[in-house]
Amino acid sequence: MPIPTELVGSLPRPTKLQQAYADYDEGKIDWPELKTEQDAAAEDSIRRLEAVDEPIVTDGEQRESSFATYNLTQTLAGTGLAPNLAPDGQFFAIFDDGHHRQLPRITAGPFRYQTYASEFVAENVKVASRPVKQAVISPSMMMLLYPLDTEIPGYSREQFLNDVIDEAEKDIRQCFAAGAVRVSVDFTEGRLANKNDSRNPWTGRNMLQDFIDLNNRLFERFSAAERRNIGVHTCPGGDCDSVHSKEVPYELLLEHMFEMNAGYFLIQCASEADRERVYELCGKYSRDDANGVPQVCFMGVINPLTPQVETAEQVKEELLTAARHIPVGRLGATDDCGFSPFSRDLKPQHGSPDFARDVAMEKIAARLEGARLASAELATDPVPL
Ligand SMILES: [Zn+2]
Repeated sequence: MPIPTELVGSLPRPTKLQQAYADYDEGKIDWPELKTEQDAAAEDSIRRLEAVDEPIVTDGEQRESSFATYNLTQTLAGTGLAPNLAPDGQFFAIFDDGHHRQLPRITAGPFRYQTYASEFVAENVKVASRPVKQAVISPSMMMLLYPLDTEIPGYSREQFLNDVIDEAEKDIRQCFAAGAVRVSVDFTEGRLANKNDSRNPWTGRNMLQDFIDLNNRLFERFSAAERRNIGVHTCPGGDCDSVHSKEVPYELLLEHMFEMNAGYFLIQCASEADRERVYELCGKYSRDDANGVPQVCFMGVINPLTPQVETAEQVKEELLTAARHIPVGRLGATDDCGFSPFSRDLKPQHGSPDFARDVAMEKIAARLEGARLASAELATDPVPL
């Protein structure tokens, strides 16, 4: 059986599209003009992914302000922010290079998404000649929209979290109804939950178990058959070629992450110093039966934060090493993260987002070829020594 392979979701937005977002924020262009640029970049993303033979494609999230805010705001600057939200919420993350990303703050109920990811899926299936996947945001990230310590008068935390689960379920169901074959839930806040960064109070509150329990309330709304195609993505961040939580010991997350009853996991690994240890931990903690579904570990074999292109041979060797620790029937290959989870990202290590788009395709091609080589080797020697 070939090793399955899947991308996380995003690609760098072309310089032209990033300029269009800025022009829209400044009122220089209107929404239909921005939409035209988004659609062009989305179609180009799908064509490029098809050209390198990616089996399941995305639009590279070209129409999204970010992986965490597509549902809430049209742009990262806050243009088109949904009702009942203020722009001055918690820091989601403070990255190693010093920049940060901030979430909106919920000010009153009810909490409703303004945009559902299915709207992107509906457009992508019209353009794509291959199956389409979609990434969606987790309930646990939305949890951070609510003030950490205080209650909103007239809208309790419990009411808010109920709304979050309802909206997240609707988001996923609508993606499948629109034609997506896979939906992965972004969970980059998982590793960050043990960072204890005094500048960012929520990271010192031991929220990982709350995150996992909340996300399981979402997963339990889906049947085992549905959850085979619902995944979770973890990473230490990947924005402006920087990370937010790579120094947090990975086991603090991995020993709990597989408690979530998802059918597959897209797991950052290529940028880890000790990758074999990560394979070992995934083999140890992932489950054959997560409430009726086996958990497939898609290991990150590509680092989207560097312009150095991995070779297919390197990818093959990593997967063969992984297969010593993870049952081959539950092993897949992915990239460590999306190639640009936020719409404004100059990709400084690459020199430009346009160049980074080209590099991304070379990296994806290496993942695909490496997975083919490893599959062939495992077919003749199923238990690598
Ligand atoms: Zn990521």
